[in-house]
Order: sequence, then structure tokens, then C-alpha cells
Amino acid sequence: MLNRVTVTDLAPPPGLEELRGRYRAFMEAHVYPNEAAIAREDDAALELVDGLRARAQAEELWAPHLPPEAGGTGTGFLAYAYLNEEIGRSAWAQYVFGCQAPDAGNAEILWQFGTDEQKERWLAPLVAGEIRSFFSMTEPEVSGSDPTGLRTRAVRDGGDWVIDGHKWFSSGAEGAAFAIVMAVTDPEAPRHARATQIVVPADTPGLEIVRPVSVFGHAGHGWSTHCEVRYTGVRVPVENTLGAEGAGFLIAQKRLGPGRIHHVMRWLGQMQRAFELLCRRALDREAFGSPLADKQTVQNWIADSAAEIQACRLMTLDAAHKIDAGDEARVEISLIKFFAARVLNDVIDRAIQVHGALGLTDDTPLATMFLHARGGRIYDGPDEVHRMVVARRILKTFAEGDGWRFS
Ligand SMILES: Cc1cc2nc3c(=O)[nH]c(=O)nc-3n(C[C@H](O)[C@H](O)[C@H](O)COP(=O)(O)OP(=O)(O)OC[C@H]3O[C@@H](n4cnc5c(N)ncnc54)[C@H](O)[C@@H]3O)c2cc1C
Repeated sequence: MLNRVTVTDLAPPPGLEELRGRYRAFMEAHVYPNEAAIAREDDAALELVDGLRARAQAEELWAPHLPPEAGGTGTGFLAYAYLNEEIGRSAWAQYVFGCQAPDAGNAEILWQFGTDEQKERWLAPLVAGEIRSFFSMTEPEVSGSDPTGLRTRAVRDGGDWVIDGHKWFSSGAEGAAFAIVMAVTDPEAPRHARATQIVVPADTPGLEIVRPVSVFGHAGHGWSTHCEVRYTGVRVPVENTLGAEGAGFLIAQKRLGPGRIHHVMRWLGQMQRAFELLCRRALDREAFGSPLADKQTVQNWIADSAAEIQACRLMTLDAAHKIDAGDEARVEISLIKFFAARVLNDVIDRAIQVHGALGLTDDTPLATMFLHARGGRIYDGPDEVHRMVVARRILKTFAEGDGWRFS
């Protein structure tokens, strides 16, 4: 168990404020003014984003989630949490700075578990932003919350895996160069040793992108798609196995833990942006003879939001610090995943409410933020599953020892 965390442990690392200022300046100069154009996701938008990505690389603001040895500019989770209070403010900025889901998580597991050949072929161009990837685990027919029930099979045939299965919500699959597919390789093994992760080039015969699934009326384009994918007799060499055979769940855990906290870090930026819009609108808009800011209901929203956002910040920084110190921080990550998802939804909802009809339009970023936020209560584990993880782990410490110590 780690020693108690102190406030100074959570302070920004030396030099980070200056770096954060550079991200803020980039966001103000290049991201916010172009958000509406990027959101159109047409050819002009893609060209615009490519230009911004090149600029971010030139300014050494690229891949801040990965260490320099892996091709990034990162210096750990704590620093990354602070940077995301800037990057996370715009849904598009993660892509502009080369730290977008799901590529960020895929890069991390390739970095940790990939062979030298896999790193050269897949990781290097992925981190450089030359190609994209997708993570293909969830299946429409079985519960994604409990992936021990996955049905996609990979069977050995000589020196190959032959994969058959049906996935969906494979985010970013349209236009990606490769998938990391979670497939059952030994159905007789203990539940958590049945699956293996396999790298599958997207142009392998038998891999079919059936459709980008429409989410809230939006099918997306390229990186923003959530695709249904069929694998029919998809044949790849066994050298494409990521990590050990049967280690699929272990690697998924390694991927999803950091992936969850990456999402939460970005949500900190989203919450703060929504909060600022809420406060400004409350001051500017008058009804019944006084600004909305004078109404106690609105004051309650502001006070509750401020308290909850600060709680999310501190919980995220705490989890990030513990991960940097070598802890898996399973409880801390699950705590912040379900708590922050609710706060994010509540704060954006209050900000929309104070804007009235304007809040539902695309004249403010709130409507888009709201749509994305709702998914946060489901992807990378629904709220209920994270609550279950937290409660089980805490109860175990009482059942087997002295109980849970907050640290
Ligand atoms: C925007 C978005 C992007 C995604 N991207 C990817 C991706 O790139 N790759 C990928 O593989 N998957 C992806 N997913 C899928 C995601 O991981 C799954 O949706 C998630 O794991 C839940 O699985 P499910 O949808 O099958 O819901 P189910 O497992 O069927 O669960 C349905 C509901 O049951 C309830 N529930 C489940 N377990 C419990 C419990 N123990 N106690 C109480 N209630 C419970 C919860 O309310 C849950 O919402 C994405 C999903 C979304 C929304």
C-alpha cells in the first residue's frame, strides 16, 4: 500500500505551467476558432486538421501521453492530467495533439507488450500520426460489461490465426490501418485466460466494416466513427499475437486502466469549459428583473458544479500520482470513472439549462459536449460496473483485514 498522498505530491511537476501555457495558447489560436469548421468533418475539415497536427508536431506538443522513448513528449500521468485541463476542453483537440482514443491506448499496449517488429511496423507510424488504429472488443450479441462471454474466436491453423466474429463500437475503424482484436483462443481455459489480443491489418481479406453505427443521429467520419465490423475467416500470422497467448484480459486491463483515466482527464477540461459558459451566461442573461445569476437555483448549480469539479480534479490527480508511483490504482480509477462521468453530465446539463434554447443549438459547444458526455457513462465500463468494482474491493479489505484506508 502506498504512503499517504500529500497536497504537494499533486502539484504540477516543474516546468509544467509553462508547457500548459503553450497548449493553452495553441488551443486559443488554432483549435477553438476552427471547431465549427472541423465539426463539419468534410474534406476541408480533414485538411484543416492535418495542418493543425503538423503544426502541433512542429511545436513539440505531440503525443503527450507517451514518453519520448515511445515517440511522444510525455512525462507521466500527473503532468498529462494537468495538460488535459487544456486539451480536453475541445472534443477535437485530442486528435490535433496526437493523443486520441483509441490510438493512445493501442499505442500504450504496443509499447508495453509489442515485439520489436510490431513496434516498428505498427507503433512507430501510429505515434507519428501517419496511420490510425481501432480496438475491437465489444460485440453486439453479448455483454461488453462482462467480456468473459465474448464469442469471437481465433483458431490456430499452422502458422496462422483464423478469426471469425462480430464486433461493434470499434471506434475509429473507418480508415484505420489496423485493429487490435480481442478473440477467444482457448475456450476451455479459466475465464480470464481464454482470450488473446491479435493485431489485424485492416485490409486483411474477411475483415468487413459493415457500417459506422449512427450514434445520436451522427454516423461520424473516419476517426469519429463507431463501427460494426465482421471478421470472416480472417487469417493473420501468429506473430501478430500481442503479448502472450491467453493474456488478452491482462492486456485489456493494462489498456483500459490508463484509457479510463485519459477520458476522465479530458472531461476535466470539458467540465471547466461548461462551467465557464454557465457562469458567464448567468451573469449576462436577465429574466424577471434581474440577472439569472441572482436566482438561488442558478447559484446552487454554480456552487454544486464548483464543488464537484474540484473533487474530480483532486481525485484524478490522486489517481494519476498513484499510477506514476507504480500502483495500478484500480479503486481510484473506477471511483473517478463513474463519479466524473456523472459530474460531467450534470455540469453540461446545467450549463445548457441556463442557456435556454440557445443551449440546444450548435451556436455554443454545449450540445456537442452533451452528446459526447452521455457515452462517458457507458464506454470503458458503465457506471454500475465501476461502482461494483469499488465496492467489492473495499469490502474485501474489511472481510480480510482492517478495512479500507483512505490515502
Ligand atoms: C462512444 C462509445 C465508444 C466505444 N468504443 C469502443 C471501442 O473502441 N472498442 C470496443 O471494443 N468497445 C467500445 N465501446 C463499447 C463499450 O465498451 C461497451 O458499450 C461497454 O463496455 C458496455 O457494454 P454493452 O454496451 O454491451 O452493455 P452491457 O454490458 O449490455 O450493459 C448494459 C447495462 O447493464 C448495466 N450493467 C452491466 N453490468 C452491471 C452490473 N454488474 N450491475 C448493475 N448493472 C449492470 C449497466 O447499466 C449497463 O449500461 C464503446 C462504447 C461507446 C458508447
